[in-house]
Order: sequence, then C-alpha cells, then structure tokens
Amino acid sequence: MKTPSKPPLDSAGKLSSAGSRPAFPVQLNGVKSNSFAIKKVAVSASSSSAAGQNDLKKPFQPGASDGFGLDSAVRARMVRRLAEQGLHDAQVLAAMGAVQRHHFVDTALAGMAYEDTSLPIGFGQTISKPNVVARMLELLRHGLTDASGRLGRVLEIGTGCGYQAAVLSHLATEVYSMERLRGLHDKARENLRTLRLANVHLLFGDGMHGFAKGAPYAAIIAAAGGEAIPPAWTGQLAMGGRLVAPLQDASGAQALVVIDRTPQGIRQTLLEAVHFVPLKSGIG
Ligand code: SAH
Repeated sequence: MKTPSKPPLDSAGKLSSAGSRPAFPVQLNGVKSNSFAIKKVAVSASSSSAAGQNDLKKPFQPGASDGFGLDSAVRARMVRRLAEQGLHDAQVLAAMGAVQRHHFVDTALAGMAYEDTSLPIGFGQTISKPNVVARMLELLRHGLTDASGRLGRVLEIGTGCGYQAAVLSHLATEVYSMERLRGLHDKARENLRTLRLANVHLLFGDGMHGFAKGAPYAAIIAAAGGEAIPPAWTGQLAMGGRLVAPLQDASGAQALVVIDRTPQGIRQTLLEAVHFVPLKSGIG
C-alpha cells in the first residue's frame, strides 16, 4: 500500500467475551465524559445513482445533498479508489462508504473530504487519509478468525474529530475512543451527536493507560505514534486480540505495527512506513 504522506489516526480492536461494560458517563482524570448513540446508515459501498455519477463531474458541495445524493456518490467514488489501491475488505469499504467524512472537517475543507489526503482538524492534529484509515481497519479485521464476523469491543486511542470512531461503529460491537485534548474530545462529541451511534463511547483522558474498565478488547487501534507500545495496551488486549498502531524507531521514522496476543505469547509484525502525529502523555 502507499505510504501516507501526512499524520494521524486512531484505534480499534476485536471481539472478546462479554465482560462487564463500564457505565457512562465515566470519570477519567477527574473529567466527565459522555457516551453516544448513533443511527446506522445503510449505504452500500458500491451504490451510486446515475444522477450521482453525473454529479461526480462537479466539485463536491457540502450541503448539496444529505446522505443519499451527491455526497453519497462522491463517497462511492472514494471507495472505488480505495479498492483500486488494493483495499478489498468489503465490510471496511462499506463502512467507509457509509460515513460522511465531510461532516467531520471544517466547512472550508469539506470540498476535499473525499480526496486521498489527510486534513487538519484543529489543535495541531490531523485526520488520516482515507486509505490509511481503511488499511488499519483491514488489518484489525484480518485478526479475526471469522473474516465475515464483527469486531467485538474495540479501543481507539486518539479520537480526534471522531471520524474513525464513526467508521468503527459499523464494524465493531462497541467502540471506546479516548482523546487527551479536551477541545478535540468536545469537537468529536459535537460531530457524533447527530449521528446517534449507540455503540460509540467517547472518553477524555490519557490513552497511554488504555481504558481498563472496557478491557479486554478484541482490538486496539492507535492514531498517534510513540517510541514504544504502552504495556497497558497489550495488557488490555483479549487473548486472540489484535493491536494496530504506528511505532517510531530511534531515528524518528514511523512504521505500522501489528501486535497479536496469542496463547504462545505476543507476536509483533512491522509493516509499511507511516506518518502519524505523536503519542503524548497527559491531558491538555
Ligand atoms: N482518528 C482520528 C485522528 C486523530 S489524530 C480522527 O478520525 O479524527 C490523533 C489523535 O491522537 C490526536 O487527536 C491526539 O490528540 C491524540 N492523542 C495523542 N496522544 C494521545 C494519548 N496519549 N491519549 C489519547 N489521545 C492521544
């Protein structure tokens, strides 16, 4: 796959036994956080109307249609491009086709929302390129023994604007997404509110410690890269679970790492180079 030229992203995981779920809102680092409920929008990744096809020749105008017209056709084009780039997990492509990426970025940037580019989301952070999001989600799902199945509880580190959490909501039974910057946590809450995704739980806190109350996770996904994978993450991974994250080497270069928790122990696989924002400690 192509190496992303710019930063960001977050996390997810896969299925585990049904342990007790934390009650929400929860308190993390003394700060209250909320949960969300979202209505699922069933949009086929490959669907696009004839009118939508014609509309693809025009620049995308946010607000020009609402979900099933122009923007749905533009998303379908994005999904086709992802497939051409070698991303082939039908469930991931359908989820990418269902979520309105333009809804998560500033209006001034909405016209670029379906291009293969990362975009600023404020507070010095970035939303990842669609192909990086799709690639990481495919890697998470490939950890499943049943590829047609749904991920179980997933922990995402780095909520950012909430886009990836929304995509994950289509692929996982529960999504716990943690953000260390209050401004972005609030922004994600605002972005997700109208979507009413019942299985997305937004948390404010330092994701370096994971989120023990929701563990074990079938999958963990991080959108920020540090020099080491925090031990809390592997500790909160279910047996058979998979973690996907950017990892930085001594020279500062990042690569994607996949960590599988197996009965034989932890198995780590380094993949292609990536460029994510740094994983930071504490809250801000
Ligand atoms: N997946 C996001 C992109 C987020 S960019 C989206 O779809 O918009 C990465 C995010 O990780 C940033 O918002 C950054 O603040 C956050 N981050 C970095 N270190 C973190 C930590 N220790 N805990 C939680 N979030 C962290």
